[in-house]
Amino acid sequence: MNGPDIYDRLGVTKVINARSWVTALGGSIMRPEVFAAMEEAGQHFIDMDELMAAGGKVVARACGAEAGMVCAGAAAGNLLMAAAAITGTDRAKVDQIPDTTGMKNEFVIFKSQRNAYDHAFETPGGKLVEVGMPQSATPYQLEAAIGENTAAVIYTLAPFLPRPLTLEETIEIGHAADVPVLVDASAEVPPADNLTKPMRLGADMVTYSGGKGICGPQNSGLLAGRADLIEAAFLNYLPGGPRVGIARPAKVSKETIIGLVTAIELFLDSDQESIWAGWRQKCDVVVDRLRGIPGLRVVIEENENRQGPQPVIYMESEWSGPPAAEVRKQLAEGDPPIMIGSGGYGDELNVVMVNVRPGEDKIIADRLHEILTS
Ligand SMILES: *Cc1c(COP(=O)(O)O)cnc(C)c1O
Repeated sequence: MNGPDIYDRLGVTKVINARSWVTALGGSIMRPEVFAAMEEAGQHFIDMDELMAAGGKVVARACGAEAGMVCAGAAAGNLLMAAAAITGTDRAKVDQIPDTTGMKNEFVIFKSQRNAYDHAFETPGGKLVEVGMPQSATPYQLEAAIGENTAAVIYTLAPFLPRPLTLEETIEIGHAADVPVLVDASAEVPPADNLTKPMRLGADMVTYSGGKGICGPQNSGLLAGRADLIEAAFLNYLPGGPRVGIARPAKVSKETIIGLVTAIELFLDSDQESIWAGWRQKCDVVVDRLRGIPGLRVVIEENENRQGPQPVIYMESEWSGPPAAEVRKQLAEGDPPIMIGSGGYGDELNVVMVNVRPGEDKIIADRLHEILTS
């Protein structure tokens, strides 16, 4: 059961992914070197503890941290960070959670940064304590929200979320209260510089997806931070005692570890400038094709709220064609289906280029032109 049409044989439709590294469309595409390394890894037996330790060192170095660990994705990273903050390196506590009796278990989280993946902080018995207003927060609100039961403060860096206080401010306030700051930076790379940024700013732990911008296995992630907290995370995975850790259901295979390590090395060695230039060229193809359609303003946007440079189509007041939702629907129902971004600021159409493969830019441009001029 392999070959070029493996998905066809299963009756699964292949789509053009112009929505970004979303898991719902398959994340990212691994490079041939990553597949090759995973295949080689799969030919041998090793001591998993030794491999986990070696993989952790690569992750630590990549993130500029004291210690690191390969995990099963950023959501698993959130679970491990939460478990580590709750139990520390106390083996009895590791066995006891999610019953957190006698432990600090509150995670202070900005109301404006609540997101689908914060559920993982609750898995080991954590309790989310919201701070701030729906779109903002003040330093004194954060100070007041930290209390006797606070295990950590959570900060999420994501293009789709506001930053009510800066990460620097959050770390300063957390540390003044002697509370660690845990960072979910799942999709913040590239740029590669963002891999070391949370640690440089003093964060205590950080997690990234391996299967998004780093193009490693979809079920891999990086977890890095203070040595004592990473030791606690390892304990909450495989403590080596009578019970496995609470994070054991999110296990990583030897192939996944080798795949992630290889992807990290390739990512750090890659010429980021030329990759961005390639995405910009694809933007030009779309913008050139849509130029001059009355009622549309078509621009290329490149900022921290957008994953890579993107053509963005705004419908002006004089626009008389189909509304954005209808355009998205027609794109998704075409052959091949094209999945574009979900906007961001309002009802604009945005085409995310990070996963658009060679030639697909032209297909997207033509199809958009057809729909927008019909
Ligand atoms: C994608 C995402 C995750 C989940 O990452 P996985 O590696 O798929 O587990 C967690 N947090 C944020 C902010 C994300 O965008």
